[in-house]
Amino acid sequence: MATQFIANHNLELLLERLRTYAEVHAPVRGDDGGVRFAALTPGTLPDLAAPRTLLPPKKYLLQPRETILNYTDEAGYQLPSVISSPLILFGLHPCDLAGINYLDQVFTCDDPDPLYAARRSALILVGVSCSPDEFCSCHRSASPLKATSDLFLNVLDGGFAVTSGSPRGDELLDLANGIFEERESAIPEDMRRFFGHAVTAEVRPELDATLPEWQELADRCLGCGVCSICCPTCYCFDVLEFGGLDGRSAARVRQWDNCLFKSHGEVAGGMSFRKNRAERFRYRYRHKYHGFGALQGIPSCVGCGRCRVVCPAGLDLRPLAERLERWLP
Ligand code: SF4
Ligand code: SF4
Repeated sequence: MATQFIANHNLELLLERLRTYAEVHAPVRGDDGGVRFAALTPGTLPDLAAPRTLLPPKKYLLQPRETILNYTDEAGYQLPSVISSPLILFGLHPCDLAGINYLDQVFTCDDPDPLYAARRSALILVGVSCSPDEFCSCHRSASPLKATSDLFLNVLDGGFAVTSGSPRGDELLDLANGIFEERESAIPEDMRRFFGHAVTAEVRPELDATLPEWQELADRCLGCGVCSICCPTCYCFDVLEFGGLDGRSAARVRQWDNCLFKSHGEVAGGMSFRKNRAERFRYRYRHKYHGFGALQGIPSCVGCGRCRVVCPAGLDLRPLAERLERWLP
């Protein structure tokens, strides 16, 4: 089929054009060997072959700690405003695109979160196809969420086939006018095939609290929470309030929380919904594979593999999921 093709040697030129539209961030390998989403400066090429970044792109949407409400006697309650300039995130893999789609369902659907919505509307997403490594499970993901993007680059021999997915993507294509060539290309099956399944993971009776695997996993888990910090769809947060010493002002703050922390299920009166680690592990599993709350039935694991790469105890939920979930092969 005829597609817009950009040769590898023109990638730098494309990035230069994109920088005239907005700041561009992409996976960049640092001196320590780690790959992170960071500002792409002129002359630097993104590391599009890296299987994943350490932190997912949720860092652009959810701040680790931020004020969500201010109060003063004079002004009353005031929402903080977020002024976000357009930002191009270049080189997002399909799992990260599906992860952003999941966060969109949580934060923008029914009662939009103004801080998230402001940051999200400023983001322009440019995806790139990739090949799963041994840590990925995207090819087994049952997420019904599509990996949508403004522009998508399919990796081909010598370059990329580029397709637009939105009016903003069309604008970017116009901007790059002259550096694409129309070409007959056999595009390999798009990596986005891994998403968009119309499958609903059921709440299975055998996933009850008596399953011995919860304790086996809990015995090895250190409770460090890094699997959740690195997960593109984990968004749990805690809310704290700080009164000013003048007694006339206060701030409400939200900060990332973690379902594997003991404090996560604690409520007033010294009670806890999940007193032991096995209960917390079961909670995490169900959230990742069966969805949660209003998103019950939509697995939130998009198969990026980060939790497996970073876990200091080498824990991997795939064998358990493969045994228990009907939607897996
Ligand atoms: S649970 Fe693990 S593999 Fe799944 S999306 Fe989160 S970090 Fe990625
Ligand atoms: S990264 Fe591993 S050890 Fe740390 S909380 Fe997650 S499962 Fe437990």
